[in-house]
Amino acid sequence: MEELLTLPGVGRKTANLVLILGFKSLRNICVDIHVHRISNRLGWVQTRTPEQTEQALYERVPARWWPYLNLYLVTWGQNVCRPTHPRCGDCAVAGRCPRAGVTKVGKSRAPSG
Ligand code: SF4
Repeated sequence: MEELLTLPGVGRKTANLVLILGFKSLRNICVDIHVHRISNRLGWVQTRTPEQTEQALYERVPARWWPYLNLYLVTWGQNVCRPTHPRCGDCAVAGRCPRAGVTKVGKSRAPSG
């Protein structure tokens, strides 16, 4: 990690992704803006930056999920828990989500009736 962070343009998000995908690390969490946003909406963390979220997630999430969080939450964030107007009506975990910080939700894509 420390060596990767000395490279130009490489921050913790990229360094963690390289360690996970390139070096098969099971000890890193790659936190981008989707992981940061959804982790806060779900109430897993209460943080202001992706860097704070990464550190908080190491405390909150069982280690077996660390390398996979980015894959799952980015896909989730692009399709359901979007940056604006999340589709809470289509969300499989809506019943367990406090929706922290969510003020407006988007239209459901699920067929009605
Ligand atoms: S209920 Fe809404 S805010 Fe919570 S995870 Fe689902 S889409 Fe995101």
